[in-house]
Parts: sequence; C-alpha cells; structure tokens
Amino acid sequence: MRLITTIEEMREVVHDLKKSGKTIGFVPTMGYLHAGHATPIDRARTENDVVVVSIFVNPLQFGPQEDYASYPRDLERDSAICQEHGVDFVFAPSSNVMYPKGTVDVFVDVRRLDQNLCGRFRPGHFRGVLTVVMKLFNIVQPDRAYFGMKDIQQLRIIEEMVNDLNWPVQIVAVPTVREDSGLAMSSRNTYLSEEERKTATAIYQSLQMARQLIEAGERDASAICDKCIEFLERVGLRVQYFQVVDYDSLQLLRTVSGKVIVGVAAFVGKARLIDNVVLEVS
Ligand code: AMP
Repeated sequence: MRLITTIEEMREVVHDLKKSGKTIGFVPTMGYLHAGHATPIDRARTENDVVVVSIFVNPLQFGPQEDYASYPRDLERDSAICQEHGVDFVFAPSSNVMYPKGTVDVFVDVRRLDQNLCGRFRPGHFRGVLTVVMKLFNIVQPDRAYFGMKDIQQLRIIEEMVNDLNWPVQIVAVPTVREDSGLAMSSRNTYLSEEERKTATAIYQSLQMARQLIEAGERDASAICDKCIEFLERVGLRVQYFQVVDYDSLQLLRTVSGKVIVGVAAFVGKARLIDNVVLEVS
C-alpha cells in the first residue's frame, strides 16, 4: 500500500493505471476509519483492480459552529486499517494541498435536494461536499465510487451531480453498518460517553418505531414524526429534525407513499448524530 499526499503523485499513479487498463474503485472518507468504512472498502476490493481510499477532513463542508477542529484524526491507524483491507493507495492530502488559496472561487452547488434533512440545518454543507467530491473525482478518476447509505442525502445528491454533469463514474450505494445495539457506526461516536452511547441507541429505535407505525397503516407523516420526536425527547435527546421525504426528490411528504426516506438528526450531548431508513410504502 502506498500513501500519497500530493495531487501530482496521485495523478501520475492514475495516469499509469489508466494506461494499463486497470479499473479504479474509490472510497472517499474523512478518516478515523471504522467498520462503516471497511464495508465499502471491501466491496470496492471485490469489484475493481485497484482501490483508492481518500482521507481528508474537508473544511469546506463544516459550518463555523461545527466540529472541524475537533473532528477525530489518526492517519497512522487509518493507514493500518486500509492495509489490512487490501487498499492499494491512500490519498491523504493536507488542506493546503486541496485548497492552496485557502478556499475556492468556483463551487459545485445544489438546489432543491438540500432543502430538507441535513441541508436545511447545515447551510453550505452540500456545496462543500460536492466541491470536494468533484475535485477528488477529477484527481482519482474512479470507475466506481462507494458511498454509504448512512449519509443518504449526500449519496442522493452525488448521484444527481454525476448524472446532471455527465461525470463518467458509477456511484455504488453501501448499506448502513450498525453496532449490535443498532447504533449506526460513525467517527463522531467517539464523542460519546458510555452512558451517551446507550442513549444514542434510541435514534435507530425511533426509526424502527416509524417503520412499525407505517407497517400498521399510518400514512400521516407529521403524526409519525411527532410520535418519534416525543420518544427521542423522552429519553433525553435533542432532536434537530425527524422527517419523511420522497427518495427521489427529497421533498417532505404529507402522506407517506412510494419509496421514502425516514431521516433523523439528534444531539446526544455535544455529538450530532444522523441516521435513516429507506422504505417502500404501498
Ligand atoms: P465519512 O468519513 O464519515 O465522511 O464517511 C465516508 C464514507 O463512508 C461515506 O460515504 C459514508 O456514508 C460512509 N459511511 C460512514 N459510516 C458508515 C456506516 N455506518 N455505514 C455505511 N457507510 C458509512
């Protein structure tokens, strides 16, 4: 496995790989790797000749009050995990390498699809995500790129980006990896105390509750959300949103029907955690 920190070196590698006809599978991450990252890496390993993992905490996607400075980082540990999982190249540029001007003057932006879920509460977040993902795609030129369903709005918006901008990459969706308790794996789970980690299991329980209400015939989205929010608040979580949106348009639904995303963001102590389930409702 080779660790690459400059764009020039990554480009040279990609140039040689393309020349020899190798397919490239790409897993973009912000590092502090866990089983939720290992699953897309393993999948990329089975589907491509070469696997590239990027590790970059992207300042452009964090709001001023968010956790950019305190986001957990450990490149040595991440490299060891990548090596174990058969990764060929870890691309870990510094912020100066990615943003030599400190920022960029040209962005990739999104409309409509960022009106709900996280986009509503994190202005500029998806613009930062899309801009860095497009930069990474330009550098790594993957045949396939792997994204987790844990960040479903990110996945959907990236699918639309490559579609709208005709970028020749196949986006592969990877199901959410959970702990035995149901808690979705996340680098931000390191912020949780033992007690908070138990409380955080309510997030997935609330999604299960929504699923059961729908299975029992409830179709009124606000009735479902109200019940789930009440449950989360009762166990001590501060809910940022609990929403039911259409899978394709990401618009809020009044009546639950078709392919839908039930999404939640909640604070457990200082950690903001997100989770979702995708349901097909007849
Ligand atoms: P991050 O490092 O949190 O930006 O995540 C990098 C990629 O791994 C994104 O595509 C995430 O959606 C995905 N990912 C993170 N956690 C999980 C998880 N628990 N299950 C599945 N995919 C995940």
